[in-house]
Amino acid sequence: MHNTYVGRFAPSPSGQLHFGSLVTAVASYLDAKHHGGKWLLRMEDIDEPRCIAGIDKDILVTLEAHGLHWDDAVIYQSQQHTRYQAVLDALINEGRAYRCTCTRKQIKAMGGVYDGRCRDKSSATLLAIDEENSAIRLKLDTQLEAFNDVIMGVVEPQPVHVQNGSHHALTNPAIYGSQQAEDVVLKRRDGLFSYNLVVILDDVFQHVNHVIRGCDLIDVTPLQRAVYQALGYDAPEYGHIPVAAVAPGRKLSKQNRAAPVDNKTPIENIVRVMNFLGFSFPNAAAFDDVNTVLTEAISLWNRKKVVKTPEIIVPQHESTYYNEPL
Ligand code: GLU
Ligand code: ZN
Repeated sequence: MHNTYVGRFAPSPSGQLHFGSLVTAVASYLDAKHHGGKWLLRMEDIDEPRCIAGIDKDILVTLEAHGLHWDDAVIYQSQQHTRYQAVLDALINEGRAYRCTCTRKQIKAMGGVYDGRCRDKSSATLLAIDEENSAIRLKLDTQLEAFNDVIMGVVEPQPVHVQNGSHHALTNPAIYGSQQAEDVVLKRRDGLFSYNLVVILDDVFQHVNHVIRGCDLIDVTPLQRAVYQALGYDAPEYGHIPVAAVAPGRKLSKQNRAAPVDNKTPIENIVRVMNFLGFSFPNAAAFDDVNTVLTEAISLWNRKKVVKTPEIIVPQHESTYYNEPL
């Protein structure tokens, strides 16, 4: 059927699932199932040096233990390089993407935002450019635009600085208010395909039309929507949920000793996720097994009821959330 809801969970297998990643898995699953949709799974192992062998299997086991069964086959980004490269080659041939040799230092000197100076280098110069040592950028002639987040409501574009394929909101007041989309990096100087390219190509490839993910990615969303437009695809609907943090601005992660999800207590874990997201939900004792919890959660799911704060600090010294420093 056309227009069926297709959602997904797209973890990076750089560490075991922790409470924060379980929140994203559960929320994306519930939103999909509440709307009668499919829920796909994609391993975002594009940044291979950061990925740990075997963690993908560990993630699958954790999802299974929580009754979060995915539809269709799992996609691994590390196995999609040919498809990504074909898109890049076509964009370069059509003059829609180009090589850029600017270093981080040079971009810093431009005020932190790449100014497009490599766009119009003549083809002779282009040929001379050392392929090994250049990034590939997409020409973006659009403005960043506000969008309607299905959970958070209207989101205004923030100046987002995309560097080396990673992403973070800029705090530099000098460029605050600049809404012109920066020519986004599609392939990094070190040869890695950028997150912003592959997340979009894969969502298109998998026919994903709903993306429910953490608020840490809300600021990069207007840029991703601009990329969809430039590539001629329809952007999905986006809904962003609160991120679990250990302190303001510090999301729960492997780096700050996030505890791996305990597969022996799936019912308690899902109840905790529902409470975190702002639902009044029965206690774990009310459920016999994980499937009955999920059935209840699917029927209670309501985007309007999800807490509208970008981050929530989880209690300290609780082993469910993170391990105390040694
Ligand atoms: N792989 C990304 C992450 O784990 C998620 C990308 C996305 O949902 O767009 O942060
Ligand atoms: Zn350049």
